[in-house]
Amino acid sequence: MCGIVAYIGHREAYPVILKGLKRLEYRGYDSAGVALLNGGLKVYKKQGKVADLEETLVGKDLHSNIGIGHTRWATHGEPCDRNAHPHLSGNGKLSMIHNGIIENYVQIKKELVSKGYEFVSDTDTEVLLKFIEDIHLNNEGSLEEAVRIALKRVVGAYVIVLLDADNPDTLIAARKGSPLVIGIGKGEHFLASDASPIIEYTKEVVYVNDYEVAIIKKDELILKNLGNEKITPFITKLDLELAAIEKGGYDHFMLKEIFEQPSTIFDCLRGRLDAHNGTITMSGIQQYADQLVNANRIIIIACGTSWHAGLVAEYIFEEVTRIPVEVEYASEFRYRNPIVNKGDVIIAISQSGETADTLVAIESAKSNGAIILGVVNVVGSSIARTSHGGAYTHAGPEIGVASTKAFTGQLAVLTMMALKIGLMKGTLSEKRFIHLLNELNDVPEKVSAALLQHEKIREIALKYQDAKDALYLGRGYNFPIALEGALKLKEISYIHAEGYPAAEMKHGPIALVDENLPVVFVATKDSFHEKVLSNMQEIKARKGKVIAVVSEGDDAADALADDTIIVPYADELIAPMINVIPMQLLAYYIGVAKGFDVDKPRNLAKSVTVE
Ligand code: GLU
Repeated sequence: MCGIVAYIGHREAYPVILKGLKRLEYRGYDSAGVALLNGGLKVYKKQGKVADLEETLVGKDLHSNIGIGHTRWATHGEPCDRNAHPHLSGNGKLSMIHNGIIENYVQIKKELVSKGYEFVSDTDTEVLLKFIEDIHLNNEGSLEEAVRIALKRVVGAYVIVLLDADNPDTLIAARKGSPLVIGIGKGEHFLASDASPIIEYTKEVVYVNDYEVAIIKKDELILKNLGNEKITPFITKLDLELAAIEKGGYDHFMLKEIFEQPSTIFDCLRGRLDAHNGTITMSGIQQYADQLVNANRIIIIACGTSWHAGLVAEYIFEEVTRIPVEVEYASEFRYRNPIVNKGDVIIAISQSGETADTLVAIESAKSNGAIILGVVNVVGSSIARTSHGGAYTHAGPEIGVASTKAFTGQLAVLTMMALKIGLMKGTLSEKRFIHLLNELNDVPEKVSAALLQHEKIREIALKYQDAKDALYLGRGYNFPIALEGALKLKEISYIHAEGYPAAEMKHGPIALVDENLPVVFVATKDSFHEKVLSNMQEIKARKGKVIAVVSEGDDAADALADDTIIVPYADELIAPMINVIPMQLLAYYIGVAKGFDVDKPRNLAKSVTVE
């Protein structure tokens, strides 16, 4: 993630860029920066929010009619001034902003280092900039040509915008995989990650496509492909209100984040899972892989939704690695004098990487000699820094307080870890490994298919919005998903809900069942399916209302339920990532129907940094 803004024209560039960056802050707020041409190339950048940058620039002469700006969500290198964008070329003539990840930056960096280049940041962005600079310096051609040559070598996703001190009337931009919109004004152009920074100036925009390079002057826009052929820009008229755009067109951040999951899961798997070659590469745990393979025990510590991800991971790890796993609430673990020994591996899960209880639990386990692996979303966060190793979920900033896309990212990371260790240990056969790898690779597509059920889920939500209580049931890998469904409903719609293993309901909760109680079954096809169908019969016999999440083509489950939500079939180890989608949407639509602020639910906060 990250937001980019650039301007060229007759206005002062800085205020346009600053305002635009504020609108894009939902995309990241690790640092912000601008580059302007004011008696030479001037770059200002600061760790933190756009407002922090603004404060440091008060009173400065920022006059310039051209400029680029960036608000960062760090992927490579911790959030700090040094890693903030815009970056500068070695000779100080070029400045660049970037949104995305350059996957082969290590190789390119090695080549540049051998040529004598030095690097001041840890980012992939600086590598790409200096690569472009090197090509430009060693070529007769234009900067635009150097950009094209460089991009042909690059693997990964990017939007880049370059400001060149030697060409004060031109911006050069390019895209592959990340978004870029160019607004067309009278004698001016606006560039941004989405239309929100542009809409108040012009409604005419061009959406740049993958592998296109834009050469932008104040009154000219040229688009070319990487083969230097011109492309006619396709101008679209924006039909959007400013407020809507800030949430990417969605009513709430939560809904936007639910719908982002096909791409966030894809981002999480990208560069790690290689279905073609049958491999999983996780650089952050590589160094500790032997400890994991030989671990006496894995202890997972987490809170809230992350704890549910931990429960799914317990089932997967035990199945494929045969290592005993315990899942602990961080707040309990830290106070109860737990037994932690040297051969234990701790996996700490947290979206923000700042969860106070989890942090303290880590510290105490660390002092007992355990290896700590963090599974966190926010790069450079405290848990990421304190852990020995781990893996980022790469879900992008999660703004809705109820966690959605971070959860599926956690499941993707934990599943990859378990499969890798299972294969190394020999407890998972090569054949099953390859099968599960392919199933994991298909998740983004299957999540997209599950999301298509949104209208049906909304209808179900309207039907049950006045319920006072709800029961969520599932077995095996679907049991934690039942817990997560109940938690989402509590968080967003303030309806009392409980999640239970489906068989366990006979030991108490079945007493609650009457014609007013909605019972949500996570009943997709798995090893326990027949048993779950029996549990559904038991609820029906007591006049409970059954809402069932079922696999495509499962007529038996469909016939039993009052309301059915159909999702694509996936292997039971992988299915939780798909089955949680209806849970999220159901809670969302009930919360909205009841008129609650689903993005900021009562009494809750996004990152729980207090005990
Ligand atoms: N990979 C770049 C970085 O870590 C860009 C990240 C972004 O898109 O904000 O700085």
